[in-house]
Amino acid sequence: MLIVQKYGGTSVGNPDRIKNVAARVAKYRAKGDQVVVVVSAMSGVTDNLIKMAKEIMPLPNEREMDVLLATGEQTTIALTAIALHSLDIPAVSLTGAQAGIVTDGVHTKARIQNITPKKIHELLKQGNVVIVAGFQGQTAEGQVTTLGRGGSDLTAIALAAALKADLCQIYTDVDGVYTADPRIVPNAKKLDEISYDEMLELASLGAKVMQSRSVEFAKKFGVIFEVRSSLNDNPGTIVKEEAKNMEDIVVRGVSLDKNQAKVTLVAVPDKPGIAARIFKAIGEANVNVDMIVQNISHGSGKPATDLSFTVDKPDLLKAQKVIDSLKAEIGFGQAIATDKIGKLSIVGVGMKSHTGIAARMFETLASEGINIDMISTSEIKISVVVDLAKGEQAMKAVHAAFLG
Ligand code: ADP
Ligand code: ASP
Ligand code: MG
Repeated sequence: MLIVQKYGGTSVGNPDRIKNVAARVAKYRAKGDQVVVVVSAMSGVTDNLIKMAKEIMPLPNEREMDVLLATGEQTTIALTAIALHSLDIPAVSLTGAQAGIVTDGVHTKARIQNITPKKIHELLKQGNVVIVAGFQGQTAEGQVTTLGRGGSDLTAIALAAALKADLCQIYTDVDGVYTADPRIVPNAKKLDEISYDEMLELASLGAKVMQSRSVEFAKKFGVIFEVRSSLNDNPGTIVKEEAKNMEDIVVRGVSLDKNQAKVTLVAVPDKPGIAARIFKAIGEANVNVDMIVQNISHGSGKPATDLSFTVDKPDLLKAQKVIDSLKAEIGFGQAIATDKIGKLSIVGVGMKSHTGIAARMFETLASEGINIDMISTSEIKISVVVDLAKGEQAMKAVHAAFLG
């Protein structure tokens, strides 16, 4: 079998952990499997690199950020190869570029355009374990890029698709995907399986156990993968296409995204084209906007509206810059930004065929005295924005209401 295994930051967090990874890879090899290993930077390394850059300048150049961040994974590939060598296993490390991962040029959030895994095939054929740096690629022009935070998951899934691997395993520091982050909700339960769509929603709504883009990619290319622990041999969670019986369960999981910020533009002129102008400029800065709420304000004078939207916290400065540059042209009152929000969501394909779920969620929050600031829904999820300080309390209450 050809297996792609991805090990996250904690799983390669120190030399002993890296030796454990090598031992696990050795076990699969002893069974005759070919193994491609994708590794993240050691835990804390990427955060620390970002922190150092921001100490020098709050909005560092994104090309340079990619050159900087790619060093984290480059350290781990070499150490993992060395750990395998210490077990007398032939292993070769490859950077993203060497592995043939070609991306577009959107620095810090690049998308994979294609993968030419010629080198990987060659090395496997010669009997090597191949270790690939997660999270990074290269443009067709040779610029180093990174794939967005958590992007090693994407590297693994994209490689599994490109190599037509028989198995794709995502090793992390929990036993699988749970009904909620087990670090926040101690009685969360491990799921045996979850559909791509549910995993995608949970991931995009804050369950950082999988990078959301990687799940999107897995769905598109039909890559079935397992999320499991690098610390034990327990079976993990299988992520795959939705099966019939999955709709029987209304809420599969609850997530809390603490990584969002909210911008409110007060007294925006209420006339056609204004929202388009604002969100076009924000989009052009490569800032993703998530929830948008617009209210007519009934003040005196010209019709005006308050417009609130959420962005990823790390993009808040960029979004504010864009907004400042539009102020003269559009003429709104003021822009208020806060990063003290939490977005709480419930997700489940069963919501398609069950009613009254939103009311139950809102009642639960009301009984905890928690105010709802914004709401958004889709066929399989309901999200609310609440005060960050109450986020975990809200999550526990909603989990208890739906998932016991
Ligand atoms: P890695 O470094 O292996 O990529 P991450 O830290 O990115 O690991 O993701 C694993 C973490 O995701 C867990 O430690 C857990 O706290 C968190 N997490 C959030 N939501 C969930 C969930 N629903 N199920 C499991 N883990 C979750
Ligand atoms: N090291 C990168 C990050 O911390 C990528 C990853 O861990 O998947 O975001
Ligand atoms: Mg991760």
